[in-house]
Amino acid sequence: MRDLTRIWLCLLLGVGQALASDFDWEVRRFSGRDYVSVEKITEFYDLPRGVKPENKSLSLVKGRRSLLFSLGSREVEINGAKYVLSFPVMEKDGVYWVSRMDLGKTIEPALRPERVPGIKPFTTVILDPGHGGRDKGAASPYEREKNFALDVARGVRNELRKAGVHVVMTRNSDEFIELHDRAALTNARSSAVFVSLHFNASPNREANGLEIFSVTPRGSPSSEYDELLVRDMVEEYGNANEVQSFTLAHAIQHALQGAKLNMFDRGVKRARFAVLRLTKVPAVLVEGGFLSHPEDAKRVASKEWRHTYASAIATGILEFQKLAAHKTAPRLAADYRKFPSLPTTTVAALPRPTPVAGGLNLRELPESGSD
Ligand SMILES: [Zn+2]
Repeated sequence: MRDLTRIWLCLLLGVGQALASDFDWEVRRFSGRDYVSVEKITEFYDLPRGVKPENKSLSLVKGRRSLLFSLGSREVEINGAKYVLSFPVMEKDGVYWVSRMDLGKTIEPALRPERVPGIKPFTTVILDPGHGGRDKGAASPYEREKNFALDVARGVRNELRKAGVHVVMTRNSDEFIELHDRAALTNARSSAVFVSLHFNASPNREANGLEIFSVTPRGSPSSEYDELLVRDMVEEYGNANEVQSFTLAHAIQHALQGAKLNMFDRGVKRARFAVLRLTKVPAVLVEGGFLSHPEDAKRVASKEWRHTYASAIATGILEFQKLAAHKTAPRLAADYRKFPSLPTTTVAALPRPTPVAGGLNLRELPESGSD
């Protein structure tokens, strides 16, 4: 075993995690990047072994837990929701491989959010309605993005206040605010999370659906790029919380997928948007559908739809708050569908996925997935 691999294994498995230290990941290096086999991942997470790919897809399902990989793709489905990996799943010698980066930064926190270290209880939610004033954002036949974003932010604020959460808005009127001022307002508080609210637009009129962004891990390409760029190696403020931010995105993603929004799931993605790079607390940006898509735009224009959407975002934030306070995993999309109106206080009684052995010490994971 090469020294580098051995060092990484020690870091990955962490000190004092007896079960994990017995686990041999058999890390392999392809094109300067570390990979682990899907077979090892299934073994570690106690998913069905020996499953053969069908149509270049691997579907691993056990009880409430599921992992669905597609060869050559960065899209992965975890417990019924979509995520975009840093690097495509690849095949070597008839075996499917996933990058070490994706194991640590996406698969582990999505499967076991309750084990993510460094998620601290917080007192304040900062809601950031995108654009404002002269910056109108995307256009639709009904209303501009800036006005939809403010309306949704107020809806989320009202739901959070009902739950007793302190909310700060980066704007509560039609005013222009610089991105770094939004980050500065956030960074003036340490006990907070930040949620930016936007709607999408694309020259491709067929593009549609919901997507959530957290900051791109250092050493990883953002979801919209195939290749690593020089700036992908820069350590930004947001990188200090990259896994915590991802976990907030995960909690909101499942709340949205569990709500009756009738919108396509584009997944949890990574980006280096200014508000994600420059903020020092867990931060996400939610894109609530495409105003350039006729059906999405019609839904967003509906007051009822926006109410359902805002409630789901608030629910996801409250799930993350519970995770921070009590280490309880956020509800999955399937939980919301099964118990649509369950009060959040009784959620702890819900059946949970079977705990699996071992630990991935994310705190000790090296920052970069390539050299
Ligand atoms: Zn926007």
